[in-house]
Amino acid sequence: MGHHPMKEQLSNIISTYFEEKTVDKNQQLTYKEPSSEAFEKIIQLDFPADGRPLKEMVQVLKEEVFPYRVVGEHPRSFAFVPAPVEDVSKLGDILTTLYNPNAAGWFSAPVIAQIHKLLIDYFCQKMGYTKDFGGVFVSGGSLANLTALIAARDDKLELDQITKGVAYVSAQAHHSINKGLRMAGIPDSRIRRVKTDGALKMIPESLEEMIQEDQQKGLIPFVVIGTSGTTNSGTIDPLEDLGKVCQRHNVWFHVDGAFGASVIMSKKNASLLKGIEYADSTILDAHKWLYQTYTCAMVLVKDKKTLLKSFSDDPSYLQDAHSGQQIDSWDIGPELSRPALGVKLWLTLQVLGTDKLAENIDYSIEMAKYLETELKKSSHWEIVSSAQLAMINFRYIDKSKTEEELDQLNSKIAQKIQGSGWANILTTELKNKKVIRICTISPKVTKEDLLETIDRLDTFAAELLVFSN
Ligand SMILES: *Cc1c(COP(=O)(O)O)cnc(C)c1O
Repeated sequence: MGHHPMKEQLSNIISTYFEEKTVDKNQQLTYKEPSSEAFEKIIQLDFPADGRPLKEMVQVLKEEVFPYRVVGEHPRSFAFVPAPVEDVSKLGDILTTLYNPNAAGWFSAPVIAQIHKLLIDYFCQKMGYTKDFGGVFVSGGSLANLTALIAARDDKLELDQITKGVAYVSAQAHHSINKGLRMAGIPDSRIRRVKTDGALKMIPESLEEMIQEDQQKGLIPFVVIGTSGTTNSGTIDPLEDLGKVCQRHNVWFHVDGAFGASVIMSKKNASLLKGIEYADSTILDAHKWLYQTYTCAMVLVKDKKTLLKSFSDDPSYLQDAHSGQQIDSWDIGPELSRPALGVKLWLTLQVLGTDKLAENIDYSIEMAKYLETELKKSSHWEIVSSAQLAMINFRYIDKSKTEEELDQLNSKIAQKIQGSGWANILTTELKNKKVIRICTISPKVTKEDLLETIDRLDTFAAELLVFSN
């Protein structure tokens, strides 16, 4: 067998990577802050006319670059929606990179196109779509939202009506929705913020009133965006009621399920998404709660013709979009050349099995509930938003402090624990309060992790209070 210089490097990288993974989680930092020297080292490496040795440069990446990151796979990575990646996804990703198929369409990689179609069909059917459905893999939730919003625009508005189109979101919608709407030609002045109730869910009656008001003004309501699992609190909008409002007014219903739509895998909890079948489009980020490496997201639509209308240059497609013919992904999304994002997800489903994924998802939901139960045992912790999906928001309270002081205190508590490397925890704002937000989607998080985290938060709070008094 011939010697290949990259081969040795690759196997070294993989074996040291797995050695590192065996380190005890309590010895691993969840985040490592780079010093200014760390940046300096990289800045000083100019791009040389004559190349540097591969081995040396790989070492630089391993020692000086990759250590400085939010470790999304750490069981106590509670910030953002972390990426508790399954190793099998990494393997699928490596394989995909090595063979580097172009997943643009059926011609360049036919069996991969089949795999993508199987996955899209599987998730469409899970959502309750019955026929004519379709969809496409894109890099992430933001691009998925943009893709769906463009389809909504083109389905509901003629070209000369775009300046009258109005979109409806709740204040809890992800910022990629606003961004997507703007890119789709809908400025902030035509993005309505629908009121939410005490549980932060969009109020269908308010939505309907706003739609009617806009119609009376001669504007054209064209899309409502519900969220199934808000990034802030895991809140699921009342999908069925919103869907019905949309039906009554011929408005496209988009559901941003980047985070929460994965719960559709669970037998026990899928009913939380009741009404998602009303959605004309829904998106799902597999690089969140389906344990994939970055990036992997899906746009799912009730009628694939809508995607063809927006993204295909070939009008003949539209005529028989629902025939059995193979549709190339370049014709139903914004991209042409692209990596085969679905292969790693396919491998994960094959190797772990759907029951295992469902079990993991159920476990995460239980962990958030457990954390809530434990926090409620102490009068110092106020639950601001109860456990929903795998998300919970709470804050430290102390009667002698003003609201402003409490905001500062909670920010500092989060900074302290984040800085300590024990857990990634950030704050967010809910109901005008600074709150500590925890997302428990790692299947490796344990009750002990959660108890110890509360203990440490308590300790930081006590220290900060002593310091401020
Ligand atoms: C994460 C998230 C997005 C954005 O997804 P990216 O993959 O980061 O682009 C959109 N919507 C919701 C609800 C999210 O949680």
